Amino acid sequence: MTHYYHQSVNEIYSSLGVDPQQGLSSAQAQERLTKYGTNTLSSKKKKSFILIFLEQFKSSMIIILIIAAIISGIVGTMEGDGMFDAYIIFGILILNAFLGAWQEMKVQSSLDALKSLSAPQATVIRDGGPMVIPAAELVPGDIIIIETGNIIPADIRITQAYNLKVQESAMTGESVPVEKNSEPLPDENISPGDRCNMAFSSGIVTYGRGKGVVISTGMETEVGKIAQMLESTSQTITPMKKRLEHLGKVIGISTLAICAVIFTIGIIYGNPLLDMFLTAVSLAVAAIPEGLPAVSTIVLAIGVRRLVKKNAIIRTLPSVETLGSATVICSDKTGTLTQNRMTVIETYSEFATEEQILTIGVACNDAHGNIGDPTETAILKMGSQIGIDQNQYLVSHPRVAEIPFDSSRKRMTTVNKIASDIFRINVKGGLEEILEVCKYTVFNGKIQEITPSQIETIRHKNKNMAQNALRVLAMAYKDIDFIPSYYRAMESDLIFAGMVGMIDPPRQEAIEAVKSCKAAGIKPIMITGDHKITALAIATQIGIFQEGDMAITGKELQELTDDIFEATLRSYSVYARIAPEQKVRIVKAWQKSGNIVAMTGDGVNDAPALKQADIGAAMGIVGTDVAKDAADMILTDDNFATIVSAVGEGRRIYDNILKVITKLSTNVGELFLLLATSVLNLGTPLLPIHILWINLITDSFPALALSMDPSEDNIMNRPPHKNGCFLSNSVVWRIFYQGLVIGAIPFAAFMIGIHTGGIGLGQTMAFASLVGAQLVHVNNLHSNTRSAFTFNPARNWYLVGALAISAALALTVLLFPALREAFHFVAMDRQQWWIVTGLALVPLAVVELFKLLGINGK
Ligand code: ADP
Ligand code: MG
Repeated sequence: MTHYYHQSVNEIYSSLGVDPQQGLSSAQAQERLTKYGTNTLSSKKKKSFILIFLEQFKSSMIIILIIAAIISGIVGTMEGDGMFDAYIIFGILILNAFLGAWQEMKVQSSLDALKSLSAPQATVIRDGGPMVIPAAELVPGDIIIIETGNIIPADIRITQAYNLKVQESAMTGESVPVEKNSEPLPDENISPGDRCNMAFSSGIVTYGRGKGVVISTGMETEVGKIAQMLESTSQTITPMKKRLEHLGKVIGISTLAICAVIFTIGIIYGNPLLDMFLTAVSLAVAAIPEGLPAVSTIVLAIGVRRLVKKNAIIRTLPSVETLGSATVICSDKTGTLTQNRMTVIETYSEFATEEQILTIGVACNDAHGNIGDPTETAILKMGSQIGIDQNQYLVSHPRVAEIPFDSSRKRMTTVNKIASDIFRINVKGGLEEILEVCKYTVFNGKIQEITPSQIETIRHKNKNMAQNALRVLAMAYKDIDFIPSYYRAMESDLIFAGMVGMIDPPRQEAIEAVKSCKAAGIKPIMITGDHKITALAIATQIGIFQEGDMAITGKELQELTDDIFEATLRSYSVYARIAPEQKVRIVKAWQKSGNIVAMTGDGVNDAPALKQADIGAAMGIVGTDVAKDAADMILTDDNFATIVSAVGEGRRIYDNILKVITKLSTNVGELFLLLATSVLNLGTPLLPIHILWINLITDSFPALALSMDPSEDNIMNRPPHKNGCFLSNSVVWRIFYQGLVIGAIPFAAFMIGIHTGGIGLGQTMAFASLVGAQLVHVNNLHSNTRSAFTFNPARNWYLVGALAISAALALTVLLFPALREAFHFVAMDRQQWWIVTGLALVPLAVVELFKLLGINGK
């Protein structure tokens, strides 16, 4: 077996059949993709529709129901009634399972579609140029470009490395990043952890940049071989689902108890045992809210799809729920609160010429033309305006070494060869970070040691620029006669050149979003690596910083003890000069005081804070793979306003789940009805098939449609809801009293029917009025305080459609003679229809009255 790490770079290229300059051609890549398969770790097999369908019958209550139906059918046949009711029960159960399975399939496919949205990408050289493709399409032989923040997408042999460091703890368990290079290794067996000219799938590029050629993909990678480690299925059980399951259990047990009471009383009164049993079991199947957890998944999944349109990709379902209860949003400044469209508008050139300053900025720069970090493209643009061309400069002054920028160091250095044995060190960064390493400056045309009063002047100028909301970068340089190999040799004894100030206008939407945050009881906070004064100026413009607030720098924060910091936490709305590592501390402090924290981030160093936060939001545009991987949510437009609108969506979903829970009042109503008629020994108001038809068929559409309700207008004008139990006192109150009303209606209809036309008419009128009342009642649930008449039906067409389908389904069994007979109904006359209609409107009247009196609960 060839060991790629023994071979030289050129041997590798030829053994993999790839041109080092051109990369693979599209045709070659396609061919290899068919041969080697996609670059993915094999995931679990998809469930078939049939399997999902069969799973719908898993519930023990349904199995008992089927058995009971069969027994009663057999007994019925012996007594001459036939199996007819049993067939209908089967029919209803099959229809119900079909609906359930269909929903589940839809949810699954929409979740799959979302997964592909946040799937990793890779920059690859193909057909002679760089292009970005989904990492799943990489094939052996592909040449890929890697840089800080990337997650290595396949096993690669490094072919070029500049300060490249990769952390491969997922594979080697070693958390210290390893320096990588492209040199071949001696011809002996070397364990993966020591193959420092290779990088392995799932490794994190923590520093530097480089190139590599893909040698294996998918299950063939080292990580793929340890596959079971990653086979751990992504959990889809959300906290909300768990709470709903618990709620369902509580309701389920109470329901079973009531059904047992109904059954026992029926037997005591001498009703046929089998009939009573079937009634009790049907009621249990109907009233136990087994679909509740599934509804939450559906609602969350639909919410997630809506959020994609609002530029937020949710990576884990539960975070939608958490979003709604967020109380603090910690946001980056650059790009999130500002436009990240930088323009240099000022150059401070007291000690060097503007040309000298900008030449440093152009040399010490990783952007090309318009592509790259906006801070750097702004400098290139200003440079070219005064005649400095980046390409020309680099041809005559090639870069021979560098120390990359990172937001903890806040400076960047390159070494450019300017003559046969003269090398220029170019450094740019934050002012304090530059002054730290400067010793000289140019005065009267001579290089002299920088004096305290000169530093004073420079700082003063920096302050002035920052107060005008400018982002300030300082430049320094020196010439030496060797290529330095360690940092100290590069970043020391520098000559201070000058500063540039660039403007980055605030995002207009951010101003609005901050306002709506505050109205919604959420505290917006700015965390930035930029200077305090710049940060304050922008924060004031945007409205994050207000009278009475405080701003703090990373250094000051470091000096605070946890106790003092936590005591003063609320007053800081701006954190400046923060190193990414400090973000974790800020998140933790807020969480300790009981807050739900959303936090944005883009760099590798932000990953821990993104993980720690209740909702980690990674930047979609400037964010690194690592940040995206650690986040719960990706902002595809890097915009603060997107987080705020996602919070609104989270709240809407929470509201709608509560509506669906409140709708359990209709189940409670049925329990009340049958309990009352059995205690009073009045006969059976609803046959098992009626109960099942109403609950499993007629009623399943409105519940789902209710969850599609748009948000109420005041959704961002009230404090966040507490993340916790769904059954607050007012929810329990509503379910109880509305259940009583819903139960009283078919009770009344049944009595009227029995006395005017016997048991058949009684059951028909009970069924018709109950269905009507339930459909009418759905409209009460839009709001707990606002009248149902203030809601325009057009706001939720799904609900209009669902109500129409449900009504049509009920009317089908009431009006078509054949079905009517099968369901043991009788035809109603005009007057009876009027009575039923009148009764169906009662819940509307009662709930409206309760809202008016203010006793509908909050
Ligand atoms: P922000 O929170 O605004 O995104 P960054 O972490 O990107 O801040 O930058 C922090 C500081 O680092 C800036 O204020 C600037 O002084 C310096 N800086 C930013 N970008 C660069 C760069 N490309 N090269 C050198 N220094 C930089
Ligand atoms: Mg930044």
